[in-house]
Amino acid sequence: MSATIAPSVRLKVIIVGAGVIGLAIGWRLAQAGADVTLYDKDRAGAGASHAAAGMLAACIEAEPGESHLLALGRASQALWPAFAAELEQATGLVIDRRCDGTIVAALTEDDRARLQHQLAFQHTLNLPVAWLSAAEVRRREPHLASGVIGALWSPEDHQVDNRRLAAALQVAARQAGATLLEQTAVEHIVHDGARVQGVMVGGALQEADVVILAAGAWSRGVPLVPPAARLPVRPVKGQMLALRMDPAAPILRHVLRVPDVYLVPRHDGRLIIGATVEEKGFDRTITAGGMLSLIEAAWRAIPAIEDLAIEETWVGFRPGSRDDTPILGSGPVDGLVYATGHYRNGILLTPVTARAIADLVLHGTVDPLIQPLSAARFQRQAAAA
Ligand SMILES: Cc1cc2nc3c(=O)[nH]c(=O)nc-3n(C[C@H](O)[C@H](O)[C@H](O)COP(=O)(O)OP(=O)(O)OC[C@H]3O[C@@H](n4cnc5c(N)ncnc54)[C@H](O)[C@@H]3O)c2cc1C
Repeated sequence: MSATIAPSVRLKVIIVGAGVIGLAIGWRLAQAGADVTLYDKDRAGAGASHAAAGMLAACIEAEPGESHLLALGRASQALWPAFAAELEQATGLVIDRRCDGTIVAALTEDDRARLQHQLAFQHTLNLPVAWLSAAEVRRREPHLASGVIGALWSPEDHQVDNRRLAAALQVAARQAGATLLEQTAVEHIVHDGARVQGVMVGGALQEADVVILAAGAWSRGVPLVPPAARLPVRPVKGQMLALRMDPAAPILRHVLRVPDVYLVPRHDGRLIIGATVEEKGFDRTITAGGMLSLIEAAWRAIPAIEDLAIEETWVGFRPGSRDDTPILGSGPVDGLVYATGHYRNGILLTPVTARAIADLVLHGTVDPLIQPLSAARFQRQAAAA
């Protein structure tokens, strides 16, 4: 892309949205010497980045037809150890990345048949996923329901505390020199038809060489001219809850998935249970049906949860693109860059997105991992239809 300018000139970058995606990109660009300003209409990190479960699950979530996403996810998993270490070292903050792996338990014969079918597919992709016997899975997680039949074991699908991650990224980005303006909405992106000029904030033009749209589920609502250039991103509602375990005697150690629910234990004793998947726009209602389905499915897997206190319930909005795959790369005018649409994997994909978008902005290089993920694919799909 032609956002690259002479090295002697300090590149001015505006990032719309300070979730984990905008913050991580801002951190990388500020480290490289760019003049970075991040705007967030709310508090930084309060969007999907606050709501997520923090699973870093490239292997277990691999689905047919999602090879680009799998490649991106595996690349990000490989970056996570160094990314987390650098972030913790730079900020002195702990982000609680846990490397216990993920168990996907079968509670019925139907579950077993489905999971073994999934395992066969995962093996065609050479993913490190294996089958555990009932005895073995109960040895690893003694509180699992006595009827458990077996499980998939994914030793490389870990987790991080996404709220701590967002908090640390704010500190890191600021320390590296980025300016973070919260409670400050970008009204629209300004360009002259050929290249970006900046953004409108409070009715005033804020000029920039590069504007990065990282507004998560709200990305479609940040106007561009012409309106046809608006991104096909929608909010996909997810309800979640957290129970309180005794951190000294947790009833779960691994990330656990069973049909219709996942359970994610944190070191601080929180047990995250999620999540519903609802096409309801930006509806923030926590429903009895949503909570019932999550608690019931979690209780079938780990009956001991019935004694735990409910600590928190919440709703978040996954940024879902038309094909549920991220939109990464140059936009329709020079200097406009998209980093959005991370749907259910934005925490996993934070390190690889930050690296690829920083490379694009600073050097004009397009990482082959993001080449198939530009917004242009939607025009091609429309033309082919
Ligand atoms: C219930 C749930 C569970 C999830 N679990 C996982 C998981 O286990 N693992 C995983 O990898 N991913 C998970 N995700 C997905 C992940 O949370 C997202 O993909 C990721 O957080 C997206 O980050 P983001 O920075 O793009 O968006 P966000 O964190 O939503 O940030 C976007 C920011 O843009 C700001 N903004 C919007 N419009 C404007 C504007 N006009 N001007 C200025 N600022 C603006 C918003 O205020 C917001 O802070 C989950 C999501 C949900 C909802």
